[in-house]
Amino acid sequence: MRAGKTSREFESLHGKRDAGLYQDLRRARHAFNQVYMEMSQIAEEIKQNQSQMYVLNKKVHGQLVPDSHAPVAADNLMLLLANESTIVQGVDPGIVTTATGVATTVGSLFAAINRFEAISDDKIVPHPMDAHIEFGLTANTVNTAVISNQDRKKREKSGMQKKQLQRMAVKRRIREKRFYQRKVAQDKAKTRHENASFITFTGNWSGSGKYVKGHSRRSTRPYYTQLAACEKDFVLSVDEYKSTITCSSCFQRTTKQTQIRDGKVKSIPGAVVCFNPRCQRRISTNATTSNRNRNGATNIAMIGFSSLVSEKGLPLPAFRRIQSNKYALSALFLSHQAHGEDRIPTKGALVLLGDLEFCVLWIRSKNVIHN
Ligand SMILES: [Zn+2]
Repeated sequence: MRAGKTSREFESLHGKRDAGLYQDLRRARHAFNQVYMEMSQIAEEIKQNQSQMYVLNKKVHGQLVPDSHAPVAADNLMLLLANESTIVQGVDPGIVTTATGVATTVGSLFAAINRFEAISDDKIVPHPMDAHIEFGLTANTVNTAVISNQDRKKREKSGMQKKQLQRMAVKRRIREKRFYQRKVAQDKAKTRHENASFITFTGNWSGSGKYVKGHSRRSTRPYYTQLAACEKDFVLSVDEYKSTITCSSCFQRTTKQTQIRDGKVKSIPGAVVCFNPRCQRRISTNATTSNRNRNGATNIAMIGFSSLVSEKGLPLPAFRRIQSNKYALSALFLSHQAHGEDRIPTKGALVLLGDLEFCVLWIRSKNVIHN
């Protein structure tokens, strides 16, 4: 890092690179990459052992092992997933922002699964610039729209009667609903596919609505309700295990972005960095740093989507609680499988309709947010 800083400082001062310093940087980078590869191997072993421990622990306590149940999906959902124009959204509930969302298409998620398969085969595939559309939500925006702060001040100042208080609460609820309606419509418009079906996957973090370290918070429930308001839209909650720390491009572990300030290494909370020298995003775009919430939201979309289209209802291995390196697409979606240029030919759409009974019902009833 220090070598990078010296080289870049020289570059900005003199308008060009100093050959010697740049050599130093390259050498340091190379050494770092070597260490990274060794470290990631050890980390892989630890992961395997940890997951064994996890299973043993669950068994010792007589609890169910979560990954061993095949999730279940509804037929109409399966049809939507086969439609390339369906928009898939991931929403990451956070602490500072109430939620960060990413909208993407079925097509690009299939591409990501194919990328994963290629990585497992030790192939290098390009990762195009992320074409995701982002949207966000903070408690403050909602509060402003609902005028809840002014309402509270009014309540605190004057001794209001019960009737009046009730009327104000109803007004707030109406304003809130209208705000979320507008919000969802605006975010949909951003994707330029307003008429497509939207499937939204959300993290299962249960801290919503609670008070965390001076940040005002709001429940995400009315938001999710609105996201599922349209008949052809779905909101499903997924296990967000490892969604924050996994790189959404190469599925390796990321770390917090650090910088040297006043001679000390400080971490930047809103950013994650992937040090994998073989990371697809890094190879294609030279980028190692990404937004923490966006990465999380992308991964949540990935977890939900990859479990739905897989054979056994399991997400990509990087997001499983129990380690295994295999991932298989469900027979219904094999036509989307592609390794590089040569798509693997399958029976395609015909199979799709005939085999619908085959799909197990995925939505565990408690995880579906009904309107
Ligand atoms: Zn990566």
